[in-house]
Amino acid sequence: MIYDKTAVRTAYKHSPVVVQNMMLTAYGMLKWLERNNSTFKSYARELDESQWYSKKQLEELQNKKLQMIVKHAYENVPYYHRVFDENKLKPEDIKTKEDLGKLPYLTRGDVKKNFKELTAVNVPKQSYFKAHTGGTTGDPLSFLLDKRRLTYTRALQWRHWTSLGYRFRSKLAFMRAASLMPPESNRKPFWRHDFFENKLFLSAYHVDQEKLRDYAVKIVQWKPEFLFTYPLSACILAKFMKKECVEVALKAVFTGSETLFPEQRRIIEEAFKCKVYDEYGHAERAVRAGQCSKGSYHIDSEYGILQVQKDDCDLNPGETGEIIATSLSNYSMPLIRYRTGDTASLADNECACGRGLPLVEKIEGKFGDWIATKDGRMVRGILVSPIMGEFSDTIKEWQITQRNKGALTVNVIPEEEFNGKQAVMLVKRLKDLLGVENEIEVKVRDRIDRTKSGKFRCVVSEVEMENI
Ligand SMILES: [Zn+2]
Repeated sequence: MIYDKTAVRTAYKHSPVVVQNMMLTAYGMLKWLERNNSTFKSYARELDESQWYSKKQLEELQNKKLQMIVKHAYENVPYYHRVFDENKLKPEDIKTKEDLGKLPYLTRGDVKKNFKELTAVNVPKQSYFKAHTGGTTGDPLSFLLDKRRLTYTRALQWRHWTSLGYRFRSKLAFMRAASLMPPESNRKPFWRHDFFENKLFLSAYHVDQEKLRDYAVKIVQWKPEFLFTYPLSACILAKFMKKECVEVALKAVFTGSETLFPEQRRIIEEAFKCKVYDEYGHAERAVRAGQCSKGSYHIDSEYGILQVQKDDCDLNPGETGEIIATSLSNYSMPLIRYRTGDTASLADNECACGRGLPLVEKIEGKFGDWIATKDGRMVRGILVSPIMGEFSDTIKEWQITQRNKGALTVNVIPEEEFNGKQAVMLVKRLKDLLGVENEIEVKVRDRIDRTKSGKFRCVVSEVEMENI
């Protein structure tokens, strides 16, 4: 986070807590300065207006941006020049998102194999940087991001949060992948401060059953107005607060980066006495969607083209398919028709908030989070969630791991009331969904590991992906 530079990172790591707080405060000042520079301000102004555009105006804006990035890709990115030639296409052939189907998909594998060819030859090196993702799934990916793209992303988040009541210096508890301290460290405190922006950074790596009390006490003392975290981190905290009758009322909880299950939303909203507003995004920063005050997920269509497809075709609203993303302004490495591996369905209704930005009905997370049953079915992990929700009073945390087809381990951190009878019932309920022939065991654990980015995965399968 603060440390794009290794030297700063090293200095932070070796500093006492008080100096680390000062460094985070200085970083907060830098971010504030960034929000006051002309680039950010012009993005913010532009985005403020465009969210109220009509559907037609937004489509026109999107088409204009698409045509610009396609022309740039053809003229300056060797990979796309080759792909266009191979498919006998010219930039003029791609005018709207419907035309994108003339191009092949771009996969993570393509990016890895063609990294150099995908790098634009005319973009100065100092205007972009190398970013990474997915090291946690055993399938890491590097890609290039324009610095301006990052500023644009921040302007979008600013638009989103301010529409939900957040203001400069609103008290925000921030529990994300910030490397505040080494994950293996057990030294209190598990948080740091940015006094300038009024942020409390809580380490997402250390949210486990042992340390929840520390977190809860800190939150009650510090009285944040907003919390920004992963759905599961918020849910674990919420369950603890509810169980221990800890009273805290926030203005809103912002979540993102992993699937937010309906029962998680209910638990979080109940404990923090406020609404949860979720957002969808990914490290590649090609597309983004966020929930408005009415609860609809709006696609930031000025930022990227989000299509929901299966077998190379657009799906109808309500049908679930893969999110195909086209970034509209990342010039150092354009991602066009990029397979995200995430699933969603679109909606075609209008939102009562009045924004013309298109809507996503549901976002269901990664294709990778699935279970391979004995009879060869691929069951998405999200389908297990309602069953696990039935046990939310007796199970604190859970994660399903799978080494072989048809054999699952359900790792649970139990509440005191959890007993053998419930374990048998849990196995029975899962077999109702997955089939009785599957072998399912329940293992009681003390902790469930987060991924390297501090996120949580509900299903971790080592079975080779098939039938997708
Ligand atoms: Zn809306």
